[in-house]
Amino acid sequence: TSDEISIAVQVAQVAAVTIENLDLIDALRDADQRKDRFLATLAHELRNPLTPIVNAVAMLERVAGSHSGVARAKATIDRQSSQLVRLIDDLMDVSRVTQDRLELRREVVLLRDVFELAFEAVRPMIIERNLHLTVNMPDESIGLFVDPARLAQALTNILSNAVKYTDPNGDILVAVHMTTDDVRIEVSDTGIGIPAEQLEHVFQMFSRVYDHGSRMPAGLGIGLALARRLVEMHGGTMTAHSAGVGQGSTFRFTLPRVVRSDSHHDELLKVD
Ligand code: ADP
Repeated sequence: TSDEISIAVQVAQVAAVTIENLDLIDALRDADQRKDRFLATLAHELRNPLTPIVNAVAMLERVAGSHSGVARAKATIDRQSSQLVRLIDDLMDVSRVTQDRLELRREVVLLRDVFELAFEAVRPMIIERNLHLTVNMPDESIGLFVDPARLAQALTNILSNAVKYTDPNGDILVAVHMTTDDVRIEVSDTGIGIPAEQLEHVFQMFSRVYDHGSRMPAGLGIGLALARRLVEMHGGTMTAHSAGVGQGSTFRFTLPRVVRSDSHHDELLKVD
């Protein structure tokens, strides 16, 4: 009957659309993989020339001795190139993270030492922008079973944002609280703040807040996505808070003190 024919036609149409969609999904997945591969290659190609450049500058400094202009130029190149190295390394990690290829190398470390790695990375920027950094940490030594380089990377990303998005002479406060289960770390700044509706979006890969109403500092929008992912890989959480534009921002993250997946370390790690 004509009814049956029209049903058959509809079924065929649905099937055709489904097949078309499957092709489209394949094409999108393929494009996404090519994009990941491109990003990884791009990062490698950008990273390779940097080491010889940094080495050559160190040599120039030795040759030029105490010439103050050379020393100043060297300091600028050092600062800018280490920022570039961090950016490129983050870019390399994007493809590792999206393909679940990033592995943690956990060891027992003191939280203080992880902080020191991160502070070392951002100290030149803090000095350059004349920001005031206050650190409130419990006196007791806090031992954690974590990947120190990866945790420092997460912390560095958050701290360098606090520096980037805060005008000169502003304040950055780092506070560490202990609970029985968690270490809670809070990084607050007196910077440009984040609009409420963007608080969750800032953790999406490649996302940036463009309606701050201020000049937009350079960036790719990957630092926070990576930082949250790295903290989550450690079993923690990360959230953003801000009373709004111009009101400063706070990034909070937790790290469990107990690692449950590994029975050898299924205990509170306290190093005295
Ligand atoms: P990037 O800084 O490279 O743009 P991120 O992923 O580190 O990328 O941050 C994403 C966005 O979140 C930034 O572009 C910025 O708009 C906003 N943001 C991050 N940290 C802060 C902060 N401390 N204060 C205000 N805005 C911030």
